[in-house]
Amino acid sequence: MDLGLRGKWALVCGASKGLGLGCARALVQEGVNVLMVARGREQLETSATELIAACADSTGASVLFCAQDITTEAGRAAVFAVRGDFDIVVTNAGGPPTGNFRDWDRDAWIKAVDANMLTPIELIKATVDGMAARGFGRVVNITSSAVKSPIDILGLSNGARSGLTGFVAGVARSSLAAQGVTINNLLPGAFDTDRLRSTLQGTAQKSGQPLDAVTDQRRQAIPARRFGTPDEFGAVCAFLCSRQAGYITGQNVLVDGGAYPGTF
Ligand code: NAD
Repeated sequence: MDLGLRGKWALVCGASKGLGLGCARALVQEGVNVLMVARGREQLETSATELIAACADSTGASVLFCAQDITTEAGRAAVFAVRGDFDIVVTNAGGPPTGNFRDWDRDAWIKAVDANMLTPIELIKATVDGMAARGFGRVVNITSSAVKSPIDILGLSNGARSGLTGFVAGVARSSLAAQGVTINNLLPGAFDTDRLRSTLQGTAQKSGQPLDAVTDQRRQAIPARRFGTPDEFGAVCAFLCSRQAGYITGQNVLVDGGAYPGTF
C-alpha cells in the first residue's frame, strides 16, 4: 500500500532508539523527510546515519537530526529553528521513573507532567495551525497502555498521560478535524526496548525476584507470548500518518499483543 506520504516532513521525538526510532524508520521507508530529536547526540547521530544508509538513499528522503531535550522551551526552540513547518509530528520522550507514590514530591510530578503531558501539548500548539492552513496534518502521540490499564509502579506515567489523553480527545474534535488534521494517541504495551528493560528491572527490585523470572512472567502474560518490536510499532504509526487514515482522529490505538483484557 502506498501511504501517500512521499515528500512530507515529519518531526519525530525520542528518535535515537526504541519506539521513536521505529517510527522514524517506518516514515523514512515511505519517503518522508524526517527530523529526528533526542537528547544524546552520539546515539542520535548513529541512528540517523543508519537510517540514511538503510532507507533514505533508496527513497530519496532527507534525514536530519537535532540533539535537544524536547521537554524544555529552549530545546523546542532549537528544533523549530531547524525547521518550522511539519506535516507529521510524533511526540515522544522518556517515560517517568517507576516507584512508590509515597516517595513522589511535587518536583517529581511536575517533571512527569512536563515530559508526558505539557511537552506534547506545546508541540501540538506549535504545529497544528500550519498543518490546517496547508490542509493536511498528522499528530501521533506515543503514550502508553497504562492509560487504559494502569500499572501501580508507573503512577507518574498513569497520571500524566491521562491528562494528555483528555486534552487530545477535545482538540482532535475541534475545527482542526475539518481541515485535514488528525491527532491520535498510540499506546504501546510491552515492546522490546531499553525502557521496558528498566521497567522490568524496577519490578524485579520491588518484588525481590530475579530479572529473568520477571521478564518471563511478563511475556507469558501477553496473549501473543512475546514483546513487540519497534518496527511493528513504527508501521502502525506510519499508517496513522497515511492519507488512508484521514478519517481516524481522537483515537487511542492500543498495540499490545492482546494484553489488555477488555472487550472495548
Ligand atoms: P527508550 O528509552 O528505548 O527510548 C526513549 C527515546 O526518547 C530515546 O531516544 C531517548 O533519547 C529519547 N528521550 C528521552 N527523553 C527525552 C527528552 N527529554 N527529549 C528528547 N528525547 C528524549 O523508550 P521507548 O521504549 O522507546 O519508549 C518511548 C515511550 O513509550 C516512553 O515514554 C515510554 O515510557 C513509553 N512506553 C514504552 C513501552 C515499552 O514497552 N517500551 C510501554 C509503554 C510506554
